[in-house]
Amino acid sequence: MSRCYKIAVFPGDGIGCEIIPPAVSVLELMGKRFGCQFAFDEGVIGGAAIDCFGTPLPEESLRMALNADAILLGAVGGPKWEGMPYAVRPERALLGLRERLGLYANLRPARLFPALVNASTLKREVIEGMDLLVIRELTGGIYFGKPRGVEPYDGGERGINTEVYTTPEIVRIAKVAFETARGRRRHVTSVDKANVLEVTELWRRVVSDVHKDYPDVTLSHMYVDNCAMQLIRNPKQFDVLLTTNLFGDILSDEAAMLTGSIGMLPSASMGTDATGVRRAMYEPIHGSAPDIAGRDIANPIATILSAAMMLRLSFGLENEATCVESAVMGVLDDGCRTADIASNGMQTIGTKAMGRRIIEKLATLGHL
Ligand code: NAD
Repeated sequence: MSRCYKIAVFPGDGIGCEIIPPAVSVLELMGKRFGCQFAFDEGVIGGAAIDCFGTPLPEESLRMALNADAILLGAVGGPKWEGMPYAVRPERALLGLRERLGLYANLRPARLFPALVNASTLKREVIEGMDLLVIRELTGGIYFGKPRGVEPYDGGERGINTEVYTTPEIVRIAKVAFETARGRRRHVTSVDKANVLEVTELWRRVVSDVHKDYPDVTLSHMYVDNCAMQLIRNPKQFDVLLTTNLFGDILSDEAAMLTGSIGMLPSASMGTDATGVRRAMYEPIHGSAPDIAGRDIANPIATILSAAMMLRLSFGLENEATCVESAVMGVLDDGCRTADIASNGMQTIGTKAMGRRIIEKLATLGHL
């Protein structure tokens, strides 16, 4: 009897509700074809949860997340909830899940599919063959540091956020980077602003110390402003990019655009909760895209590729993950495009149709 994997599914808001169903269908098909069982439990988070329960992360959804073997998430947020205090905004659901599940390592692969070389705004020779992985620290830094807030000041106000990293936080994310690099091209670029920020001077020192245990991996350091420039100038120089929460957030969006669209980039968030249980959550790197929500034009590929990462990293189903990636590549090779990755004059299809084409392609792949 094959093992049954429990997957908590949180579509969230905006296009989250459109991109999750195709990814769930892909997982269902993979389960049927490979004889594994996936049990899906769907919960409400973000703005939808604020509307129903008055809180972005209801206890019931948190319980669902804690009971699952892995989590598949769409996106949260939207203009409807923008005026609310930070402590109860939709985005708090994400920070709450990351914090409660101890998801400290965010893996964001940015790989250019050959068929999309013309979808990128950069020249073919600059991006062809690009394959990098951003490893972003996810539970520390300025998104969580205290003090924070806005307070009265000198007749006006002042806003405060604090960038904090401790040695153990840097050690554990650096280990993830060096270990992951061993399965790739064995080079880590650690990104900081050590010339100005003491906290990242510590980051640089600790990463260099951890590196001593990984002599088979090369390490270089780069300032974040230079890295933002180098990503556009010569992205192929990078293998693993290791960086802080804030810098990783920004650089991975930049890396996403190199691949043609933010709608192409999956992510995995990994860690260990307070009880020592290993946890993982998979989601596209983009947000809820309110500007295109409800129009069946969002690209579901980032979410489908996130489901592939789940198969590989949470369930050890390497062949199955590769099949999903091959199906995506096959559909792109066939010329199918959602609007965000369509070149001039190309026929475009919607979210549901793209999901269907990927499912059809999966069903025809000979090596399944
Ligand atoms: P966004 O990523 O939602 O959208 C940025 C741009 O990319 C938009 O033009 C959008 O149409 C486009 N886009 C995004 N995903 C796409 C897809 N799959 N297919 C085609 N085009 C796509 O970022 P934003 O506009 O800055 O934020 C919108 C909301 O999402 C905000 O409330 C923000 O806080 C939230 N957000 C949530 C997450 C998350 O849930 N992980 C991440 C980022 C932003």
